[in-house]
Amino acid sequence: MKKVTLIPGDGIGPEIIKSVKTVFAALQAPVEWEEHNAGLSAWEEKRDLLPQSLLDSLERNRVALKGPITTPIGEGFRSVNIQLRQHFDLYANVRPSKSADAIPTRFRDVDLVVIRENTEGLYSGLEYCDERLGIVDSICRITDKGCDRIVRAGFEYAKANNRKRLTLVHKANILKQAGAVLLKAGERIAPDYPGVSMDDRIIDNMCMQLVTHPERYDVIVTTNLFGDILSDLAAGLVGGLGVAAGANLGDDIAIFEAVHGSAPDIAGKGLANPTAILKSGVMMLHHIGESTLAARLDMALDQTLRVKEHCTADLGGTAGTPEFTEHVIRNIEKDPVPVAGAYR
Ligand code: NAD
Repeated sequence: MKKVTLIPGDGIGPEIIKSVKTVFAALQAPVEWEEHNAGLSAWEEKRDLLPQSLLDSLERNRVALKGPITTPIGEGFRSVNIQLRQHFDLYANVRPSKSADAIPTRFRDVDLVVIRENTEGLYSGLEYCDERLGIVDSICRITDKGCDRIVRAGFEYAKANNRKRLTLVHKANILKQAGAVLLKAGERIAPDYPGVSMDDRIIDNMCMQLVTHPERYDVIVTTNLFGDILSDLAAGLVGGLGVAAGANLGDDIAIFEAVHGSAPDIAGKGLANPTAILKSGVMMLHHIGESTLAARLDMALDQTLRVKEHCTADLGGTAGTPEFTEHVIRNIEKDPVPVAGAYR
């Protein structure tokens, strides 16, 4: 049994994590969950947003599956998500977006991965306010080390997944120095990966390209804020936030989580789509060496999504979270044959 830290999170978090636990039990996955709260639920329980017991659990287990955590807007405490990523130095946020036959969308052949630098940039948490002058400075810290390792992570991902093109995304026409650090890292590292071609795009052009010709892009490597925005955009191309999975990876610790947030507008209503967190579970199963189970879960999800009325409302269906989960389990029990090239 592999011990995995499980963080239910806030809002729809506990509902979709319940779905994961039921589905993993049906899969007979050799995973033992160690459950710990973080965020608002931890605050209510222990008056601590990020309890030491959770940090210790993750330090021991090296792998976690996490529900979304609410961050107050424009005031209040600092994002617990960012604190977790920075505490464990989870510098690469890997977010794949792939068209699925089961989900009708405007584009049919999207298959790209956004790899976002996860620890610096405008998310460094360095903000200075002079209320007297009415000035706020938000520091966008970009380092050689940060760019080198995210670019290398992008090339390593491309090599491991037989991808042929890597696009660096920046704003080096305006933020000349910050952009140059990323571009120079690309120039330094690209020669180590002769099988992968590299090019670059300015962020505004990239947004336009992605909503007109997303099929042209493969692996996108970018800084923190641009990656955050582009990965939501990419999620929209393949069915929306309800189906977009992700991983926060460091050198030897990984936290898997959906791209979406705590969705307060639908929390507690049994409407949340658990596909994104289940697909994050597929990525986690690959990570812990359970690729056969990963493919089986991926296949069961695909079969469930093919029947519109078995889908949740965000995909035009009528099922709630528990009904969708039941259909996934029924498809697991049909013992589908894993397909080559399954989602990872
Ligand atoms: P959100 O992703 O929570 O929701 C955006 C929209 O997508 C909403 O209409 C929501 O109902 C819908 N949606 C999201 N996930 C869905 C699902 N699984 N099934 C069906 N519909 C779904 O974004 P937001 O409203 O901007 O943020 C809410 C909170 O989540 C904020 O506090 C934000 O900071 C936090 N957040 C956390 C994470 C994280 O924990 N990694 C990521 C993003 C946002």
